[in-house]
Amino acid sequence: MPLRRYIFNTLTVVSVLLMLGVVGLWVRSYWVADDFRYFGSQLPSDPALSQTYAIYSGCGEVSPFLGPQDMRETLEMAAGINSTGPPYPFHLLIPDTYLVHRSMPPYDLNSVYGHKGFVHQLGFGYNQRTYKGLTSYELILPYWLITIGFAVTPLIWLLKWRRRKLGPPVCPSCGYDLTGNESGVCSECGVEVNSNAAD
Ligand SMILES: [Zn+2]
Repeated sequence: MPLRRYIFNTLTVVSVLLMLGVVGLWVRSYWVADDFRYFGSQLPSDPALSQTYAIYSGCGEVSPFLGPQDMRETLEMAAGINSTGPPYPFHLLIPDTYLVHRSMPPYDLNSVYGHKGFVHQLGFGYNQRTYKGLTSYELILPYWLITIGFAVTPLIWLLKWRRRKLGPPVCPSCGYDLTGNESGVCSECGVEVNSNAAD
């Protein structure tokens, strides 16, 4: 098997696995919201706050967040949603690290923020807000987009496979149509195609 095809096949397998994982999380997001956070270093401007990296998954949306600690809760509470509870039950990896996870009933971030319109109905959103002089960045992405992203390589693989199985025999080197070829040599590029032509 040529190296390029080997790499492509490996990529396809990895994509299929990732796609299945994403679809699983997508379905889960309508039942349970997941909230992962990593609390980084304290902010020099306010030692009570630390820089937070977070990912929220709920209602078919994934939302990475970068900003001061608790800012997302503050914004959500301002919008009338109490997303502060329940507290984080798990410290992942090692105790005393600040990588935490919690589950809760899912809520749609775009609705919480009052985002309206077609683009938001598709599941896209972006927030950049300032609070106590500090800026937070929040992206909202739909699971369907991520699923499509991981589906591209498997789809190309399927199309290629279908063409190999159903289409006329082609030269593995240049793709020239070998229908009726009996010489075992590609008349276009001269490569030996004996075994492949009958495949
Ligand atoms: Zn050829």
